[in-house]
Amino acid sequence: MEMLTLAKVREGIGCQSTAKDKSAAPMKCSCNLRKGRLGYQTMEIILFALLGWLMGVLINRAADNLPAHRSLLAAPHCPYCDTPRPVLGQIALLSYLLLRGRCPNCRAPISLRAPLVEFANALAFAFLWTRYGAQVQLLWMLVYTVVFLLVLVIDLEHRLILNVVILPAMLIAALASPLSQMGWARSFLGGAVAFVIVFGIYIFAEIFSRWRKLNIEGGAFGQGDVKLALFMGIVTGFPAVFPAILATILLGGVGAILFLAYQLIVHRRLMMNAAIPYGPFFCIAGWVLMVFGT
Ligand SMILES: [Zn+2]
Repeated sequence: MEMLTLAKVREGIGCQSTAKDKSAAPMKCSCNLRKGRLGYQTMEIILFALLGWLMGVLINRAADNLPAHRSLLAAPHCPYCDTPRPVLGQIALLSYLLLRGRCPNCRAPISLRAPLVEFANALAFAFLWTRYGAQVQLLWMLVYTVVFLLVLVIDLEHRLILNVVILPAMLIAALASPLSQMGWARSFLGGAVAFVIVFGIYIFAEIFSRWRKLNIEGGAFGQGDVKLALFMGIVTGFPAVFPAILATILLGGVGAILFLAYQLIVHRRLMMNAAIPYGPFFCIAGWVLMVFGT
């Protein structure tokens, strides 16, 4: 398939044939051809956005069901009145438009997370299509985007990085690494670097908190963070793994300062022992470096 970037198509949109040029048959006009290509490109982007939206619905369902040990097939329920959501209510962006973001039974508000996840995933899928086109690389990027978004949501809401999500993701990333653009060697080196650095910090924080008898919830990094870092290292590869870890720690620092400021302003007290979940920062930095780092 001939891959044209949007920019190239837009560059060529100016029609070369003029009104005076009566000999130019309309079917052969390069302007029509280019417009046709642009229309085709737009349709492909919309198709990928719709696919991303659908996957966003599934991410929301997984984020609701997996931490509660429910089957992925279990239909979503309203957390307030426990009635099953109607079919339209299961698609958050539609339920915000049609049901005004409220449960049709008890009028309780539907969490804003669901439409945000659907929107972000649709946007990410459309962007990944414009960046990678019909390459095998695209498939892995879409899968890893779903993993990062799912881990981000569950860790933010439950402070958990579930083995049922991260272990298969690590296995897929390891098995797919020979097919990636960077090759398996840089992938595995990235994974090893991330593991050594994050596991090192995890062990150091454990020893330090035991020595000082500090009771920090979960320490600096949890065991889930170590597994997530390994996954992130494999998909970002070497040497992009270094800025990915640095960005995670910096984002975590900024997040911690914002969290403390929020506690001070809203609750007028500081809970210094409350640890910040690092998973979402690994996911954001990992995704950015995975897409732009190579
Ligand atoms: Zn309800």
